[in-house]
Amino acid sequence: MTKKELENFIEECEGSLKDEFAMIDKQSFENSRRVLKAFQDHHLSMAHFDSTTGYGYDDLGRDTIEKIFAQVLGSEDALVRNQFISGSHALTVALFAYLRPGDLMLSITGTPYDTLHEVIGIKENPSSLKSFGVSYDQIDLKDDDFDEKQIVDYLQNHSVKLIEIQRSKGYSTRKSITIDKVEHIIKTIRKIDKKVIIMVDNCYCEFVSDKEPVMVGADVMVGSLIKNLGGGIAPNGAYIAGKKELVELAAERLTLPGEGREVGPSLGVNKSLAQGLFFAPSVVASSLKIAVLTSYALEKLGYEVEPKYQDKRADIVQNICFHDADKLIRYCQGIQKGSPIDAFAVPEPWDMPGYSDKVIMAAGAFTQGSSIELSCDGPIREPFIAYQQGGLTYEYGKLGLLSALEELEKCKGDE
Ligand SMILES: *Cc1c(COP(=O)(O)O)cnc(C)c1O
Repeated sequence: MTKKELENFIEECEGSLKDEFAMIDKQSFENSRRVLKAFQDHHLSMAHFDSTTGYGYDDLGRDTIEKIFAQVLGSEDALVRNQFISGSHALTVALFAYLRPGDLMLSITGTPYDTLHEVIGIKENPSSLKSFGVSYDQIDLKDDDFDEKQIVDYLQNHSVKLIEIQRSKGYSTRKSITIDKVEHIIKTIRKIDKKVIIMVDNCYCEFVSDKEPVMVGADVMVGSLIKNLGGGIAPNGAYIAGKKELVELAAERLTLPGEGREVGPSLGVNKSLAQGLFFAPSVVASSLKIAVLTSYALEKLGYEVEPKYQDKRADIVQNICFHDADKLIRYCQGIQKGSPIDAFAVPEPWDMPGYSDKVIMAAGAFTQGSSIELSCDGPIREPFIAYQQGGLTYEYGKLGLLSALEELEKCKGDE
C-alpha cells in the first residue's frame, strides 16, 4: 500500500471501531470524575505546588497528593514518591518491607517481571531476598487464568507470607489479567487464608477498568509513574497503595525506620505528579484507542494479535506476533520514526542487562523509558512478538502507527 492507501485503510478501520472507542471514552469520563472529586475533596491549591528540599519535612504538597492518590485508587493510604526510581524499585521496596528471613513468597501468575528476578533471587544476586533467607515459589497460569486448584492446594499445605499477582504480561506470551479474574481469585484465597498479604503488580493496568485491585480485596498494589498514572507528565516515580500498615512499612523501608514517610523532599515534582494524575484518565484512553486500532488494523493485514480489538482489556499493552525477526525490527523502527524525540535514530536489537535475548526498543519519548508514551519493543526470539503501548494523544499515536505500517510495507519489497 502507498502512504495514501495506508491512511485510507486506517480511516476505514477507525470507522469500524466506534463502539469500542465510545466505551473507552465512557470509562475515561468516569475515571476523570473520580480524579476531579479527589482533587476537590482534598482542597488541592497552588500552595501545594511549592516543594521541599533537604530532608523534606512537612511537604504539604507531597502529603496531599498521596491522599488524593489513595482516594482515587480506593485505598486506605498511598505512598507516591519521586524517590522511587520506577515501578521495579517500588516493587522491590515493598517486597523487602513485607518479607523477613524464613518467610515464603508465592507468585500465582508464573515467573514475575524480568527486573524482579535478581530481586527475588530467581537469578543469583548477593543482595536478593533469597540471600536474606526468604524463599520463593510460583504457580504458573493455566489456560491464561489462575490455576485455582493448585493455588488452593498449595495454600492448604504451606505457610505463605505474601502472594504476588502480576496483572500485565511483561515479555511473556500469556494474556494480561482482568480485574474480574483478580477479584475472583482473591475471594478464593481469602476463604483459605485471611492473613496472607496479597500484593498486586498493577503496572500498565490503572484506569483501564472502573476498579483497581485494592477495591476488590488486594492488600496492596504497586505501579509506575512513567506508565499510566503519571499521565506522561510525571518525570519519574512510583506508588504503593493499600492498607495503612503496609504503606507505612514500605515508607520505613524506602527511607529509614523511624522517619518513614515524614522525609523525602519532593524537589519540585508536586505540580507534575498532580497534573500527571489529572491527565492520566484521558492519556490511558488514547493509549487504549491506539491499542484497539493497532489490533484491528494488524489483524486485517493478516497478523496474529493479542488482545483482539473487541476483547475486554486488562492493560494498555498490544501484542503483534510477526513470526519474522525482520518484520518485528522494521515495525519498531517505524514507531521510532513516528516519534517526536529522536525520530532520526534507528533502533537496533541490543544485549540489554537482565535479558537473555537481544531486545529492540523504540521509544522516542520526552521522558527516558516512559512507556505511557507511544513505544514498542520486543525480544528477538520466536515467535517475534512486538509489545506496543502508550500514546499521549490519539492523533500522535495514529501518526506513529502509520509510520510503523509504512516501514512494515518495506519488508514486502525485500521478499
Ligand atoms: C513495566 C513493568 C514493571 C516495572 O516498571 P518500571 O517502571 O519499568 O520499573 C513491573 N511489572 C510489570 C508487569 C511491568 O509492565
